[in-house]
Amino acid sequence: MRQTNVRQGMLRQTMLRHTMMRYTMTAGLAATIGVAGSAAYFSPWFWRRYRMNRIRREVAKNRILALTYDDGPSDGLTPQILDLLQQQNARGTFFMLGRSAQRHPQIADRVVEEGHDIGCHSDQHLNAWKALPWEAVADIDAGYKRLSPWIQPDAMFRPPYGKMTLPTYLSIRRRGAPVWWWTIDSGDTRDVLPSPSQVAERLRKDGGGIVLMHDLDRTQQRNDFVLELTAALLDVAKQESFKVMTLRGICQ
Ligand SMILES: [Zn+2]
Repeated sequence: MRQTNVRQGMLRQTMLRHTMMRYTMTAGLAATIGVAGSAAYFSPWFWRRYRMNRIRREVAKNRILALTYDDGPSDGLTPQILDLLQQQNARGTFFMLGRSAQRHPQIADRVVEEGHDIGCHSDQHLNAWKALPWEAVADIDAGYKRLSPWIQPDAMFRPPYGKMTLPTYLSIRRRGAPVWWWTIDSGDTRDVLPSPSQVAERLRKDGGGIVLMHDLDRTQQRNDFVLELTAALLDVAKQESFKVMTLRGICQ
């Protein structure tokens, strides 16, 4: 009787151990898939770091300044930037939103006529890390479609907020469109604006750069900042003999 009890006790213990092991394995597997899945989903982040480090070296080696403007065109700031670039005989790159270009088609026309480059920045500016994957992909496609009077289906792309996921990366790869981030953030979206000369000095120190600015209409202070910064960057480029070019001109 006592022996049977002992045997039953041991059996119960073994079963308990097996159940525990199964739970541990399942949880471990789920965690691994979760971590691996997330790593794959957000993997373009690593690609971004690799790619922009390479580009950073490239622009410094060739002493290049690329002026880039996102989220436009607008009917206030964009024409003023175009006037300034025309005076300085410089070309810039405009990553437009489909919805903004549709609102101000004559300004998008002017950008093309004056020899600047246009890239796609999606239609509604969805953040790929926050939107559902298919919504973010659809927003990119909608951007290319609305910008089609000005750009080709494989025109360069800059992701809204700089964020890409595996699905948005694959959709851009399918198009064969080059993706561009930046090497210097102008800080024009920060609560407290830096001084234009601070950003211009960073350009001098880096020996060149791709500068991120925005040409949507915001406060007068922010619009003025973008204009002053553009002028300050062009001054540094002149002093340092940097080549001012659009992104299309930079080797991939
Ligand atoms: Zn943007």
